[in-house]
Amino acid sequence: MSEGDRGAAGSWRRSYIAAAVAAVTAPLVVALAGSSALVIASTLALVLAALFFYVASVGQKEAQRATLNAPRPEVVGFDPSARAILECLDDPLLVLETSGRILFANRSSHPLVGAEAERKHISAVLRTPEVLEAVSRVLLGGASESVAFTFLVPVQRHYRAYLARSEGSPSLGPLILIQFHDLTAVRRAEELRADFVANASHELRTPLAAVVGFIDTLRGHARNDPEARERFLGIMSVETSRMRRLIDDLLSLTRIELNEHNPPAGEVDVVALVRDAAAALAPLAEADSVRIRIPDHEPLAVTGDRDELMQVFQNLLHNAIKYGRTAGEVRVTFGRTGPQGKREAAGQVFVAVEDEGEGIPRDVIPRLTERFYRVDIKRSRERGGTGLGLAIVKHILNRHQGRLQVESTLGQGSTFTVFLPAAAEPASR
Ligand code: ADP
Repeated sequence: MSEGDRGAAGSWRRSYIAAAVAAVTAPLVVALAGSSALVIASTLALVLAALFFYVASVGQKEAQRATLNAPRPEVVGFDPSARAILECLDDPLLVLETSGRILFANRSSHPLVGAEAERKHISAVLRTPEVLEAVSRVLLGGASESVAFTFLVPVQRHYRAYLARSEGSPSLGPLILIQFHDLTAVRRAEELRADFVANASHELRTPLAAVVGFIDTLRGHARNDPEARERFLGIMSVETSRMRRLIDDLLSLTRIELNEHNPPAGEVDVVALVRDAAAALAPLAEADSVRIRIPDHEPLAVTGDRDELMQVFQNLLHNAIKYGRTAGEVRVTFGRTGPQGKREAAGQVFVAVEDEGEGIPRDVIPRLTERFYRVDIKRSRERGGTGLGLAIVKHILNRHQGRLQVESTLGQGSTFTVFLPAAAEPASR
C-alpha cells in the first residue's frame, strides 16, 4: 500500500471512530435533554460534533499531504531502470505507446511538455503541427524521421525532433521515441554570421565606392587640375586607410575568436603595459590636445598575452581620446580586489580609463561590444572608427577570464574598467 493510500485509510478510520462515539453518545444526549440537565446535554452534543469534524478534517489533511508527497505512480510496465537511465539524458525525450499516449517523459522535457505529461495523449501537451503530423506517420508504421519546429512564445526557440519506432517489449508492444535537440544557439550563431558578413561588406563598400569614384574623376575632368588632384588623392588616402584598419580589425577579431578557448600563458604587468599603450598613442592625444594621466603604482601582474592586452588598453585609451573632450583629460586608475569565491586564488586587478566626453546613454551601454555597433555612426567614422574595437576588447577579455565594466554619465564622461584575474606572484618585466 502506498503512503497516500495509508494516509487515506487512516483518515477514514478516524472518521468511523468519531462517528461511533457520536452514535453512542447521541441517545445519552437525548435522554439527558429530557431531564433538567438540558443545558449540559446540548453543550455535550456540540462538543462531540466539533470533535467529530476536527478528527475528520485532520485525517483528510494528512491524507492530502501524503498524496502530494507520494512518488509519481510508475506507468505500468515501463522498466524503472530504463526510466532512471533516460532521466539522465540532457535532451528532452518522450516515449509513446502506439495509441499516442505518453508512457515516459524525462525531466528535461518538462519545459517543452509540462511536468504532468505522462499518461496524456501527445496532442494534449504538444501543439506543434509539424511534430504531431510526424508522430502520426511514425505511429502508422512510417520510417524514422526528423522535423524542425519553432516555439514563438515566451521567447523564440528552435528545435529538431527525432522520431523513431522501437520494437518495445512483449508487455508494452511497439514504442515511439521522440528526442528533441535545442537548435536555438546554433541558429543564433548562423544569423550572427550572416549579419556579420553583410555588415563587413557594407563597411568596406562605402570607402571602396569613394576610391573608385575619385579614380574616375582623376581620369576625367580633374586630369589637368593639380589642385583637385592633390585634394582627391588626400581623400583616397584616408579612405584606403579606413579599409586597411577595417581589414586589420576583422582579421584581429577572427584570430582572437579562434584562440579564445586557449587560456593565455605569459605574465604581464598591466601598469607598465598601460604606460606603453599610452606612449604609442601620444601623437593622437597631442593632436586633440588631450592629456593622459597615469598615476605611479606598484606592478600589477596578470596571467595574459602581452600583445592582446596591449590591444585592449590601446583601444580603450584611443576611444577615450576620440570620444573624450578636446583639450580634456584621460585619467587611468589601477587597483586590486580581494579573491571572490574559491576559483579565484589571488583576486583581481583592475584598470579604469576615465574620460570627460559627452557620455553614453545608459540603454545602449550593453550594446557597445557588439560588432559594428556605434552610438554615433558619423562621429565614429569621422574619428576613423571601425565599430570593432570594443568587440575585440570583449573577446580578448573572455580569453583572459576578465570582464569589462562601463559606467557613464551624460555630459560628464565615461569610465571603462577592465578586470583581470591577478597572477599569483608579482611580475618582473
Ligand atoms: P569605434 O571604432 O567606432 O570607436 P568601438 O567598438 O571602439 O568602435 O566603440 C563602439 C562605439 O562605442 C563607438 O562608436 C562609440 O559610439 C562608443 N564609445 C566607445 N568608447 C566611448 C567613450 N569613451 N565615450 C563615448 N562613447 C564611446
